Amino acid sequence: MPRPIEALVHPAALAHNLARARAAAPDARVWAVVKADAYGHGIERAFAGLRGADGFALLDLAEAERLRALDWRGPILLLEGCFEPRDLELCSRLHLWHVVHCNAQIDWLAAHKTHQPHRVFLKMNSGMNRLGFTPAAFRTAWTRLNALPQVDEISLMTHFSDADGPRGIAHQVAAFDAATRDLPGERSLSNSAAVLRHGVRSDWVRAGIVCYGSAPDFPDHDIRHWGLQPAMTLRTQLIATQQLQPGDTVGYGSSFTATAPMRIGIAACGYADGYPRHAGTDTPVLVDGVRTGTVGRVSMDMLAVDLTPVPGAGFGSEVTLWGRGPQGSQLAIDDVARAAGTIGYELMCAVAPRVPMHAVED
Ligand SMILES: *Cc1c(COP(=O)(O)O)cnc(C)c1O
Repeated sequence: MPRPIEALVHPAALAHNLARARAAAPDARVWAVVKADAYGHGIERAFAGLRGADGFALLDLAEAERLRALDWRGPILLLEGCFEPRDLELCSRLHLWHVVHCNAQIDWLAAHKTHQPHRVFLKMNSGMNRLGFTPAAFRTAWTRLNALPQVDEISLMTHFSDADGPRGIAHQVAAFDAATRDLPGERSLSNSAAVLRHGVRSDWVRAGIVCYGSAPDFPDHDIRHWGLQPAMTLRTQLIATQQLQPGDTVGYGSSFTATAPMRIGIAACGYADGYPRHAGTDTPVLVDGVRTGTVGRVSMDMLAVDLTPVPGAGFGSEVTLWGRGPQGSQLAIDDVARAAGTIGYELMCAVAPRVPMHAVED
C-alpha cells in the first residue's frame, strides 16, 4: 500500500471561485493567474475548473507552452515579460501577450523579427518598487513602444502592494491615473485583494489566490466571508496512536509535555510533504472530520495530533491537513497558514512532488 497521503484538486471549487471573482468585477475581463503551476494545483489539473476565464496569466514560458498544449487558444499573458531576446520568438509562435517593464525588453522588441505584431502590457511602477517604469518614465516608454512595428496594441498595467491591508490602493491608483490619463489602451490593475476589497474599475483584473479558495486579506476576512471554496485538499491517515501520561513528551526537542493523560495520533504527513515545519502545537487539523490540533514539532514524515475531541479515532482514521474533510467538514488553508506564521499562498505552492495529487469531481 502506498503511503496514505494525497492531495486533491477540486475543479468545481475553482470554477465557483472564479465566478466569485467575476461577480466582484462585473465589468472586467478576468485573467486567471496560474503562475507557479497554478499555485501548486497543477496547470493541467486546474484547467478544467478555470477554462471559463477570459485569459490566463503566468510568468514561466514552459507553463505557457503547457496551456497551449491543452488547446487553450485564448489570451495568455506573461506577467514578467521576456527574460531574454529569444523568448520573443516563443511569444510570436504561441501568440503570447507579454508585459514590458524595462527598457531592455523594449530594445529586444525593436530587434525582433515577427510577421505578427505583439500585444504588450506596459507596466508602471506606481509604488510597489518591484517591476515597471516610474510614472515619470512611463510616457517615454509608451512612445518608444508605440513607434515599433513589432507592437500592435499597448495596454497599461500596474500592481498594488497593499490591496489587502490598511494602506490600501488609493495612492497607487492616483499615481497611475495621473500618468496615464491621456494614453489610450486597456487597463489592468487589480489582483485578488483589490477585486474583493476595492471597486476600482479596469478592463482586466488578475485573479490569483481568490480562485484557489484562500482569502487574500485573511485574517481580516476568511473564505466564508468572501464565499470561496477550498480548491485543494491535503489529507492523510493515522498510522499509529500513543497513550500519554502526565510528564510524557512528544517528538523532536520534546516541545510538548502532557499535563494529563491524553491520546495522540501519528499522521503520515511532515515537512517533506510541504506541511509547514513552523506550525507549532495546536495548529488546526481535522481527524475524521473533527477539528483538533497538532501536538509537538512537525517532523520530516510525520506529525502528531491530539485525539481528545475524537476518542473513536485510531489507526487509519482520516486526517485533513487542509481543505475538505469527511461529512462536509472543512479546514481553510488560511487557518493552518496563520498558525505557521505564513499565508495560504505559500502552503499551496509548497506541496511536495512526493505527494500524489489528482483532480476529483464532486
Ligand atoms: C501573482 C500576481 C497576481 C495575482 O495575485 P493574487 O494576490 O494571487 O490575486 C496579479 N498580478 C501580478 C502582477 C502577479 O504577479
